[in-house]
Amino acid sequence: MSTLLVQIEDQTLPLAKCVWVHYRPCGCACSVMEADWGDDEVFATEDQAHRELTPLKRDRDREIRKGFTLKLVTFAYYRESVDITANCQLCKPAKAVAFDGR
Ligand SMILES: [Zn+2]
Repeated sequence: MSTLLVQIEDQTLPLAKCVWVHYRPCGCACSVMEADWGDDEVFATEDQAHRELTPLKRDRDREIRKGFTLKLVTFAYYRESVDITANCQLCKPAKAVAFDGR
């Protein structure tokens, strides 16, 4: 496990306590991924996380054009405030990516 620290709002905390949430243009969360998988597999920047979640560049470019966003949040925030099973009328069913539900 790395000891990378990140700052989220006024908190400084280990990257290992964070997850990336991928939001659709409508604001619904479509996927979530741990930011630190251990063994040097860390996703410390939005670009690194996007490359992992959406491997093909043309897909990433399309998502960026359409207004998809990535946000680094704490596990606590994720548990309290993010529901990847919630879908509005604009979007398709969500899926979890490499997330063990901690
Ligand atoms: Zn939606």
